[in-house]
Amino acid sequence: MASGRRCVRMSAPEELLDIRRLYRLPWSKNDNPNGWIEITTHCNMSCPGCYRGCDRKDGSERHLSMAEIEVDLQRLIEVRNCQTITISGGEPLMHPRVLEVVELVRRKGLSSLLLTNGKLLTRDLLTALKHAGLTGIIIRVDSLREGVRQSESDLDELRQEHADLVRSVGGLFLGFTCVIDKTSVAQIPGVIRWQQSHGRDVDFLLLILMRDPHVLREKAASPDQRGWVQLDELCGEIKARIGDLTYTAYLGCQADDAQIKWLYSIWFSLDERVLGYVDERFLELVQVFNHLVEGRYAFISKKSDYFVSLPMLLLLGLVNKSMRAICRRFLAAVLRRPSLLFTRAKMQILNIVNPPKLIDGKRDFCDACPDAVLYRGELHPSCALDEIRERMGRTDPTA
Ligand code: SF4
Repeated sequence: MASGRRCVRMSAPEELLDIRRLYRLPWSKNDNPNGWIEITTHCNMSCPGCYRGCDRKDGSERHLSMAEIEVDLQRLIEVRNCQTITISGGEPLMHPRVLEVVELVRRKGLSSLLLTNGKLLTRDLLTALKHAGLTGIIIRVDSLREGVRQSESDLDELRQEHADLVRSVGGLFLGFTCVIDKTSVAQIPGVIRWQQSHGRDVDFLLLILMRDPHVLREKAASPDQRGWVQLDELCGEIKARIGDLTYTAYLGCQADDAQIKWLYSIWFSLDERVLGYVDERFLELVQVFNHLVEGRYAFISKKSDYFVSLPMLLLLGLVNKSMRAICRRFLAAVLRRPSLLFTRAKMQILNIVNPPKLIDGKRDFCDACPDAVLYRGELHPSCALDEIRERMGRTDPTA
């Protein structure tokens, strides 16, 4: 590792993204808390730039059989040491046996996280998924989805509908995905603010910088990047509107020492207000403790684990500076409103993903890609799966 000051190349929030101040997540290919499976290539939407090519009409659609899914799960457990299985697609809710898939993950002793566009979600289905063992759900809502003509703030109504539905079922971790390009980047601080003001219901926000995989697959010498947003631009927008937001952890890049590919911010809120952001040491404690106790790193857990009582915060404050500041603000809030004494603070997570581009004709994949998928028994970044299939001479995305 090079010595001296190391920060990503950027303008506005340079200090915030100095990697010496961030926790480098300790995940690796073979000790990675996330296992990723894609159970179907069917989708009921056709969003531009879909990594699985659901916006193209040149491939057939197929559901993986339960036998194939079980083989992949077993292999992921053996080679990944994962804590969570992320169930993706296509649209996984279109798989006719999605409940059995969730049950199978539970039987294997892992948490399950389902990625969906939310179109098929009903209270009955969500209840059945919860009874099958689902830990959490992440719903894509953004202005770049197929057919959406609304601004990000207009979409808060849809986010609220989903949040109400998930709350009515209870006990499920809830996150939203939001894909970003130049047309929406200035609106993203508003989406984060919305998340922060829904501390009890919304646990997680995943911001993904739009990279058109079709353009990248063609390996054009100079792909048209005019619509793309870079990480420093997004962080600059966030800094301008949410000045106190700080970052906690990152994953680097395989092809470029100075790039951040995954960036986390984590905070505690009380009564729908942010109490404070946790520092890199806090997350280091969580990850190391989890590995010591459970033998694997943490990814997501039960909804109830994200609510923390004041005594527990005080205990954490004994060993962590950022938790002491959070405790002080909690106590100040209690002095103003004593009824808050028995309320639990809530942890919320923001994850920004800066997907691969092309550098000198090569893809700049994320270090320890948490979303690696098995293809023909080997792990590959899921964002490049179609490329890999083509390289292996298979043009059918289901083969
Ligand atoms: S390299 Fe892995 S983690 Fe990074 S964007 Fe691609 S699939 Fe996701």
